[in-house]
Parts: sequence; structure tokens; C-alpha cells
Amino acid sequence: MKRNWLKGANSYYDVVVIGSGLAGMTAANMLAKLGHSVLLAEHHYNMGGLATWFKRKGGHILDISLHGFPSGMIKTFRKYWTKEMANSIIRLKGIRFDNPQFKLVTTFDKVDFTNILLERFGILKDVVDDFFETARNMNFYDELEMTTRELFEKFFPGRKDVWRFLMEPITYANGSTLDDPALSYGIVFSNFMDKGVFTYQGGTDDLIKKMKKELIKNGVDIRTHCLVEKIHLEGKSVKGVKINGQDIECRSVLSNSNILSTIHELVGDEKFSLEFIKEVKKVRLNDSSCQVYIGIKRGEKIDNVGDLLFTSVAEEYNTEKILDKHVTSRTFSFYYPEMRPGLDRFAIVSSTNARFMDWANLSEEEYNVEKENLIESTLDALEKYVPDIRQKVDYLEAATPKTFKRYTLAPAGTSFGTKFEGLKISRDLPKQINGLYHSGSVGIIMSGWLGAANYGVIVANEVDKFMRSLEHEPKKMVHASV
Ligand SMILES: Cc1cc2nc3c(=O)[nH]c(=O)nc-3n(C[C@H](O)[C@H](O)[C@H](O)COP(=O)(O)OP(=O)(O)OC[C@H]3O[C@@H](n4cnc5c(N)ncnc54)[C@H](O)[C@@H]3O)c2cc1C
Repeated sequence: MKRNWLKGANSYYDVVVIGSGLAGMTAANMLAKLGHSVLLAEHHYNMGGLATWFKRKGGHILDISLHGFPSGMIKTFRKYWTKEMANSIIRLKGIRFDNPQFKLVTTFDKVDFTNILLERFGILKDVVDDFFETARNMNFYDELEMTTRELFEKFFPGRKDVWRFLMEPITYANGSTLDDPALSYGIVFSNFMDKGVFTYQGGTDDLIKKMKKELIKNGVDIRTHCLVEKIHLEGKSVKGVKINGQDIECRSVLSNSNILSTIHELVGDEKFSLEFIKEVKKVRLNDSSCQVYIGIKRGEKIDNVGDLLFTSVAEEYNTEKILDKHVTSRTFSFYYPEMRPGLDRFAIVSSTNARFMDWANLSEEEYNVEKENLIESTLDALEKYVPDIRQKVDYLEAATPKTFKRYTLAPAGTSFGTKFEGLKISRDLPKQINGLYHSGSVGIIMSGWLGAANYGVIVANEVDKFMRSLEHEPKKMVHASV
């Protein structure tokens, strides 16, 4: 008999949060702490969304999206989660570049970047200072006309080597390109430049386990294996949701599902104004990713070759080449035993930006061949840095945009939500339907671990305000639904 994953759930919750990505979990936690009854529904068996990991035979644990985030995550964890989580954040100091234009190692902060720009690239100090100042002062309300390409042209005309140094890591961090608004570059770049790149010691499995414990402590009703199929409305207001075929009432929905899926599939275009849907149709998804997971045999070691290694054989930075299925650029994340103290294991994850369409329409046979090619070419590229890698490996697997789609339901397996225009749509959702909110990777700046978690906080506050505005309405009767 099929298990009922909603067994014992209530007939009504103040808020239903759809999806347990970092935005969904952070929002659910805040809303529960603010006194609301919260149901957190996740279709997958695991929580975390793209912030996830997997275990394989031989004691391998591989992280999917734990490669690096800015120091702001420490404050976010301390304020909205726990001090213990904040205290587990550690700095990565060996960030390495290797491409035909330059080879260097950096601590990836303002002081080191300034020195490199002055000494290695010969840029004048005033120009560097002015560039940092301009990037730092960009904010949400700035005009969006200037692209990152124009920003670079202005400060470093013709210096494609400098562009690559400044841009390549950010492309990996949030999927943005030279043609996206400079704002989406400036905010993320400045966040990193503040203090460098950080990671979570203990791994994603430890983090999500602790988040789950905290959510339960604060009273969130967590339900995994629960697919939200529909958001029900009464007129222009949220009335409930349909989960695994069962209706549950609520006054507000915070969707952490992709913004386009939320509108087109969970609600339905006909429930929004025509002008709004016209704008929604202009929203472009961000690109997706491929990864190769490399598990090192128990007892084997690899020398420290840096924590993050941006490698490329392309002559210069080029978005098209970065996305191309014939990979020229890869970011290697090296996981040394300090990452998971007590485990004494090494692992390597290679990430490349990718296009969904390059993978979506392959036959099963072609798909498997292409995955195998991806693994082999990744090992070839890695041999340059870890010469005997093939002898040290005993687990290899690849993920493609199709894999990311399957696990998170993100259309086209998008790694970083939508391009910039998606942010306005996400913000305008409650103006269309009372009680309907969205949070999660959108508009480039609200993506990545920090962006998604912080956006969860912003939207949770708005949901709280909305719920308080309904306090005069009669209380709902609550009973166990099943
Ligand atoms: C390969 C890769 C590497 C990355 N590396 C980094 C990195 O190093 N640093 C960094 O900061 N960021 C990184 N990111 C980005 C970062 O992981 C994401 O931006 C962030 O985790 C997204 O969080 P989110 O809250 O938007 O939701 P998501 O993680 O997209 O989660 C949404 C959740 O909603 C669930 N869901 C969707 N629809 C439904 C439904 N109808 N019913 C029930 N559940 C539903 C999904 O299953 C999922 O669990 C990386 C991403 C990828 C793909």
C-alpha cells in the first residue's frame, strides 16, 4: 500500500511553505518563531533543495553546491538559525586560477585583489579604488541599464585578462554573464570581496540535519515526499493547497518552487492580470550546471592544490564557451579531511555551467555516452593538478541539467533561478493574489546560499505582516486531516 506522507497533518495552517530550499527553510523557521502555524512541504525525500549532498558505498559523501559563499552567511546563520551553525563557517584561502592568460593564487578578498590588480595586471591604484567603490555602492534601486561588460569597458577598457579575473568566479557563483545588469555583478562581487570565500565545516548533510532539528523545535510541520500540485484561490485570495491529491487550507502560501512554475503550474495564468502574465512571459531562466563527483579511495590522500580551482583552456573569458557542451572551463572544489572532521576522506567535485537543451533531447544511449565523456574529459583536465588521480579514485558520477531538474523540479534544471527580470515578478506576486508570496533563487542577486536564505528572511517578514493584517478575521477550526 502507498504510504500516506500527510498522515496526521492538520486541516489548516496559517502558512504553507512549498519547498525546502534554503529560502523555504529559512522562511519557515522565521514564520514559526513568529508564532504562525507552518507546514513545510517538500516533494523530495531529502530537504535542502540544491543545498544537498549524497552518500555512496565506500564511505563517500559528496556535496552538490557547497563550494563557497560570502562571509554574510555567518550573520544570516547567527541571526536566523543558530550560533552553532554560524560557528561552523570557515574560510577557504586557496583560490586558484589557471588559464592561458594568467596563473595565480588568491585569498579572494579586497586587499589581495587590489594587490594583484596593481602588481600583476598593472592597473593604477585610483582606478582599482574607484572600481571597488562603484561595485560596493551598487544597490537594488540603481538604474539597471549598465551591463557588466559596460562596467568593465569603463574601468578596464580592452583588458580581457582583467575581465576574466573579475568575472569568471562570479559566473560560477551566480550564473551571471557580461550581458547581465552590472548590479547583479557588483552586489555579489562586493559580498565576496568583503572578507573572502567561506564554507560550512561539517558538510551539507550536517547543516541540513541541524536545520531540520531547529525547524521541528520551532514547531514547523515538515513533510517530505509531498508534492504541492495546486494552490487554491477564493477570488483573489489564497485559500489552500493540494498536496499529494489532498486539500489543505491555509491563508498564505510562500512558494520556494521556481517563480515560473509557481505562476504557470501551481496557480494558473488565468488567475493573474493579462499585463502581469505578459511580463512573466519575458522572464528568462538562468543557465544550469553539470558536475562530476570524484570520490577518493579510503586511505588515499591528495596534496593540497587549493580549495577552489578555476581552470580554463579557452584563450579568453567567453560566456558561450563557458556554457558549451565541449567544456573548456571547469571549477574544481577540493574537499580535504578538515571539511568533515573525523572522517579523514578526500573528494573532488568539478562544476561547469551548462545549457539544458544540450542534454534534454539526447536518447538514453547518447545521454550515457555524453555523461561518460564528461567524466573522462574531467579526469584528463584534473590530471594536470593531481597527476595520479585515476589510481586514487574509486567512485565517479556525473550530474547534468536533467539531474538537477529531476531533484528540485527547477525548470530546465536552472542552478540560479531567473535572470534579473524575475525579481520584479517575484516581488509583485502578492499584489496579484492576497497571501501569495515567492522566495528563492531569482533575479541573480537573490540566488546562491546567501541570497536565497536572505530572501527567505525578507519574504517571511512580509508574510508575517500579511498574517497580522488578518488578525481580526475569525480563527480557523483546526483538526487532524487524516
Ligand atoms: C551545481 C551547483 C553549484 C552551486 N554552487 C553554489 C555555491 O558554491 N555557493 C552558493 O552560494 N550557491 C551555489 N549554488 C546555488 C545555490 O545552491 C542555490 O541558489 C540555492 O541553494 C537555491 O535555494 P532556493 O531556496 O532558491 O531553492 P532550491 O534549492 O531550488 O529548492 C527549492 C525546493 O523546492 C522544492 N519544490 C519545488 N517545487 C515543489 C513542489 N511543487 N512541491 C514540493 N516541493 C517543491 C524542490 O524539491 C526544492 O527542494 C549552486 C547551484 C548548483 C546547481
